[in-house]
Formats: sequence, C-alpha cells, structure tokens
Amino acid sequence: MKKIIRAEHSGFCFGVKRAVDQVLNLRNQYKDKRIIIVGELIHNSVFIDRLHKQNIETIEEDRLKELLKNKPLNAVVIIRTHGIQKSISDLLNQAKGIDSTLEVVDCTCPFVKKIYGIMQDNTSDETFTILFGNQNHPETIGTSSFITGPYKIVSSFDEAKEYFETTDVLKYKGTIVVAAQTTQNHDELLKIKNLLFSYRPDSLFFDTICNVTEQRQREIDTLSKNCDEVIVVGSNKSSNTQKLYHIALANCEKSFLVNDKNNLPEEAFIDDGTIVVIAGASTPDDLIEGVIEALK
Ligand code: SF4
Repeated sequence: MKKIIRAEHSGFCFGVKRAVDQVLNLRNQYKDKRIIIVGELIHNSVFIDRLHKQNIETIEEDRLKELLKNKPLNAVVIIRTHGIQKSISDLLNQAKGIDSTLEVVDCTCPFVKKIYGIMQDNTSDETFTILFGNQNHPETIGTSSFITGPYKIVSSFDEAKEYFETTDVLKYKGTIVVAAQTTQNHDELLKIKNLLFSYRPDSLFFDTICNVTEQRQREIDTLSKNCDEVIVVGSNKSSNTQKLYHIALANCEKSFLVNDKNNLPEEAFIDDGTIVVIAGASTPDDLIEGVIEALK
C-alpha cells in the first residue's frame, strides 16, 4: 500500500508569503507604473515566470544602477526577501529624494533585516566577524555589506575550523563576532560557536538562524528516517530547499529534489511504501499539491 505524507511545515514561510502578497497587491495598486524587483523575489523560477507574465520585472543590481540614471522613472522598485547591499539601498534612497515618481517598497524579511541591524550595531574597526553562510547568496552578500571591520565568510564547520587553525584570527586583539545566514544549519552554527568560544570566550555570538528553517530541518530529519522515499519540492537555487534535500538524503537514499511534478523521475512512482513530501520556504503551494496528486 502507498502512503503519502505531506510535511506539516512546507511551502511559503512567513517572510515569503508577506513579500508575495505585497508584490501582488502592488501590481493592482499601481496599474500604470513599472514594477521592478531587484534580484529574484524568492528563489523559485516557476514563480518568477508567473510574475513576469504579470509584467513584474526582475533585474540585477547593476542594471538598477543604470536605470536610476533615468528620471522620471515612474516605477515601483521592490527589495526582495533576501535584502540588498547597503550601497544599493543608499542609492535608492538618494534617487527617491529627487524623483517623486519613484516608489521603493522594502520586502526584506524581518529576520534578515534583524541580522543587518546586528551587523551595523555590533561590528566596528575593532571587531573581526565570522559569518557562517554561502558567499554567493544574496542574503550573505547583503549582510556582509553592513559589517564594519574585517570579516570572513565560512560555509561549514570544517572551513571555520581550518580557518581558526591556519590563521592568526584567534589572536585578534579586538572582539570576534559570530552570526549566520538565516537558512544555515543550526547544529553546524553551534559547533562553530563552541569551537570559537573554547579559544575565545570573550567573543560575541548571535543566533540569527530563522526558526522556520530549523523547524523544517528537524521535521525532515525525523520523517526521512521512517519512510521509503522523500520528495523535496523547490528550486535548487534555494538554500533552505537544498538543506532539506541533503538532510533527507543522509537518512533516505531514495530522496529527490524536484521543481514541480514535471521533474519527478520514473523511480519516484512506487506502488508500495511511505513517501514524504516536503517543500522549501519559497515553493508555491500549488506546486506541492501538483506533486502529491501526480504521486497518488
Ligand atoms: S526562511 Fe525565515 S528568514 Fe527566510 S524569508 Fe522565510 S521567515 Fe524570513
């Protein structure tokens, strides 16, 4: 017999839902203005295509800098959930001051904003910051732009350990500050913290991992130990989706990461056994339900 379990915590998280609702409302509110999102609102290509069909553009930061030279722009510029670099934010504020046709709507998730604030308030030329994150991820790029003083981005406990052991950072004369990208693994962050504090108990630690991420990671860890197959629905560009997939794969070798039902591999269709379906925080609900229907 086949049993399909949808994980309790799957699909849009609070931050993504808030941003998506805001953007869709803006389209209705400003029918005659260009609506431009700086970077992908969320990491899900199916959803981004849907936005494009509603005439909501996605542009990169460099293109935005060019666009801002045109006045009046008659546009609404939306800052995505992952936030943007401080220099771009400053540029937008400046442009807004001289172009009354320009609106700026900040959809940065409050949890991401919180890290930006922590970095701004707790780093200085006297501190050295260790940021646990993916250096190419927009959130980490944004966070690092709010750091004052030297910093190092590490992507794993092993990388942090090697950095501590092969450089002089532990002898740094000022305070060492530690924080993480919201979607990193919590256990790994605590390992980094414990190692650092064993050498430098005077360090400053900020637990900046979002509990949405942690909740899902714990749920998939439990569910994937007791099933025959796991389907993670979401984009492989989404950091939290990838983490879910890797946790599932460590417990259940028959784990698949798919964008939607069209990516389901042949071997995912089984007649007997328990299939767990979970989704990253940026996966629209209809894509999750589509996968469940296809598997039935
Ligand atoms: S996963 Fe957490 S930090 Fe990221 S957008 Fe969702 S609520 Fe915000």
